[in-house]
Amino acid sequence: MKVTDVRVYPIEGRHWPRFPWLFVEVETDTGVSGLGEALSYRSSGVYESLENVKRRLIGRDPTQIELLWEELYRDGVSLPAISGIEIALWDILGKCLNAPIHSLLGGRCRDKVEVYVDGFFRGAKYVEEEYVQKALAAVGQGFRALKMDVDEPIASGRSLNRSLTPRDLKHTARMVAAVREAVGDEVRLAIDCHGAFNVNSAIALAEKLEPYDLMWIEDPVPQENLKAMAKVTLSSKTPVCTGELLNTRYQFRELFEAQAAEIIMPDVARTGGILELKKIATAADTYHIPVAPHNMVGPIATTASVQLCANMPNFFLLESQMGDVAWRDQILKKPLKIVDGCIEVPTEPGLGIELDRIELEKHLAQ
Ligand code: MG
Repeated sequence: MKVTDVRVYPIEGRHWPRFPWLFVEVETDTGVSGLGEALSYRSSGVYESLENVKRRLIGRDPTQIELLWEELYRDGVSLPAISGIEIALWDILGKCLNAPIHSLLGGRCRDKVEVYVDGFFRGAKYVEEEYVQKALAAVGQGFRALKMDVDEPIASGRSLNRSLTPRDLKHTARMVAAVREAVGDEVRLAIDCHGAFNVNSAIALAEKLEPYDLMWIEDPVPQENLKAMAKVTLSSKTPVCTGELLNTRYQFRELFEAQAAEIIMPDVARTGGILELKKIATAADTYHIPVAPHNMVGPIATTASVQLCANMPNFFLLESQMGDVAWRDQILKKPLKIVDGCIEVPTEPGLGIELDRIELEKHLAQ
């Protein structure tokens, strides 16, 4: 079997054009093709990278996933582009062997993958009543875990010196307290700081929010300095979660060695693809660290994540977006359904999904 073409479909996803969805399709001479998705930010060059890689893949055996990964990685191809290609290669392999990807990875540890909902607050003002209403609506839909942003809504979260003012610290605590009180203590609640704060402010924030029993504090400081992250982690009673911007087992090795987090969140569409995330998760398990994969783009990346999470012993929760584009489910012929906060694991060969080509055409970026 040989690769005959690589097609890239830029889609107008959520917050377009900030986060385009980049779908990848690898075609072969047997008629079997595979789907993948690459995480991309506007102007990040991932689209161009995928177009360049196309020439290298044509004529190659798509089932040599490790070999092709190593070649692309050593050639300096962008990691999101490698991720998108790699996911498509697994889809091809699964279809050829008539097995879902989770079976090829070692089989299911679970039949359903629990998700937490990010973005439940979209459309609400940063005031207690509105957040409470949105949080209760999410819980009413069956979600048992929520995540809220605590940096973007406040001025301190955008300040260049990364310092939280006493006023913003108090405001944040009020918001978290209100949501916690509304959803009760059986719903998991996390906050995302997007690396907005300095070490002192992050430590102060963690201490202030201690009474609210958070599931995690995400990226309290930027991910570039894992020793600084470790300082927050070691001082905070609430677990720190990080890793959405880290690539490959090599960057995660530094995280583990620095003891920078108690929970990690690699992204399958960015960190290097399915097998790379499996390797990262296995390494995390040797440190007894659970994995809560980051998942912010389209339904192909979500499905690849679900295949992985089904197989991963140390899986914790998968991210899911609320307030996404209205046609998210229509772009798949058989959409992934979230029931009681869980996604059922597809059992069809490969990823187990098919694109609706008519719907896809409607949302292609020009
Ligand atoms: Mg985040």
